[in-house]
Amino acid sequence: MGRPLRDLRISVTDRCNFRCRYCMPRERFGPGHQFLAGDHLLSFDEISRLARVFVGIGVRKIRLTGGEPLLRPRIERLVGELAALPGVDLAMTTNGSLLMPRLDALVEAGLSRVTVSLDSVDPQMFGELTDSPGGAERHLTRAPQVGRMTGYVELSCRLLRIISCLVSIRNDVF
Ligand code: SF4
Repeated sequence: MGRPLRDLRISVTDRCNFRCRYCMPRERFGPGHQFLAGDHLLSFDEISRLARVFVGIGVRKIRLTGGEPLLRPRIERLVGELAALPGVDLAMTTNGSLLMPRLDALVEAGLSRVTVSLDSVDPQMFGELTDSPGGAERHLTRAPQVGRMTGYVELSCRLLRIISCLVSIRNDVF
């Protein structure tokens, strides 16, 4: 098609600590669900090798996703390896629940953008959609800090079934 390949998304795990109704409903993804065994996942070395190949053919933006990418142990190491690739803008999409304790290490490793998925700003609706404890305000109150540290944060909001919005909050508005 002649269009250059610039963006690459890498799923680092199929697991998540949320059970969003539209993604991992608890009836299907309950305690007995068989997620991929660790040795069926690409290792960090394999991911880095593949990423190098894609960068070599023109990829300039890499986004780490899951499942929930912060469930992958020692993800900071992978962030460091990918951030060191020449000319790469490294991003992560996360549900935000595990972000704050890891943020310093992630930014230090070279993560430059974070997208926090946010289903609703209403705590009750948030709980119903994600089938998980904690409210949207936890994410919202953290956004400025994430933005200050990475220079870029996006809140990806899927509000009530169909409507979706993307609010980009740049560092300079905080
Ligand atoms: S947080 Fe994301 S990956 Fe996890 S269940 Fe919800 S939509 Fe799926």
